[in-house]
Amino acid sequence: MSAPKLPPLREVIAKHGLSASKALGQNFLFDEQLLDRIAAVPGSLEGEQVYEVGPGPGGLTRALLRAGANVTAVERDRRCLPALAELAEAYPDQLRVIEGDAMKIDPASEIGAPFHIASNLPYNVGTALAVGWLGGESWPPQWKSLTLMFQREVADRIVAKPGTDAYGRLAILAQWRCDARIAMPVHRSAFTPPPKVMSAVVHLTPKAQPEGVRMATLEALTAAAFGQRRKMLRQSLKGLPNALEALEKVAIAADRRPETLDLPEWINLAGTLDTLR
Ligand code: SAM
Repeated sequence: MSAPKLPPLREVIAKHGLSASKALGQNFLFDEQLLDRIAAVPGSLEGEQVYEVGPGPGGLTRALLRAGANVTAVERDRRCLPALAELAEAYPDQLRVIEGDAMKIDPASEIGAPFHIASNLPYNVGTALAVGWLGGESWPPQWKSLTLMFQREVADRIVAKPGTDAYGRLAILAQWRCDARIAMPVHRSAFTPPPKVMSAVVHLTPKAQPEGVRMATLEALTAAAFGQRRKMLRQSLKGLPNALEALEKVAIAADRRPETLDLPEWINLAGTLDTLR
């Protein structure tokens, strides 16, 4: 089926008076080729369910619909709803728009089947949303993949390796549960208005069998350690019950700093800490 003819996005913005709101993290994408490349990151979306946060005037939404996805989109800015209603009309039965705050919505309860998540995230809530999707004790999740645009600095923190400045809680959480990669860098000039910083699309797919460690324990450990990342573990972990004993048990030297521990070491430490409780 050929894609329906739609007015250019810039016309849609002008028609509906969608001046970008900084408070809502609005930086819009208009380049159709770039949007199609982002929509291609999760693989074929033909007949797949996709959850999109912040469709705005609908640039990425159009690309997802062109790719054959059934999209459920959550938008907080009600000024965007008429433009999105026009898009829903052009793609009958393929687009459902929910007016609301994505921070308060559980996509699994909105979409009754496994789904992908794709979003050019509002920067002010992007990290919190991603941590919410990655966190929680229950695993695997109901989503099949995350394709998310972040500020480059956040993207780097998600894929960071030990021994780097970017390595910390976010890298450990993301890489414990997912295979994570930067799918493409995106230049700031691709956005209207251009943000101050560069961006990147990150692709995350859940790992089938994350190691048997409690999420809350790993969180508590990495929060204590990276909360004082310049300090040695002996210092930063001393307030966490049994943590120094766990360090000794797994033979991790107490004078190491948190960024030197790789993922298997964190997993081992958290698992051992659980056995001591
Ligand atoms: N998807 C569009 C694009 O790529 O051009 C717009 C992306 S813009 C970076 C982020 C969008 O998220 C805006 O439309 C904004 O109104 C919306 N937004 C901001 N906070 C939100 C929230 N808490 N829940 C849902 N949408 C939100």
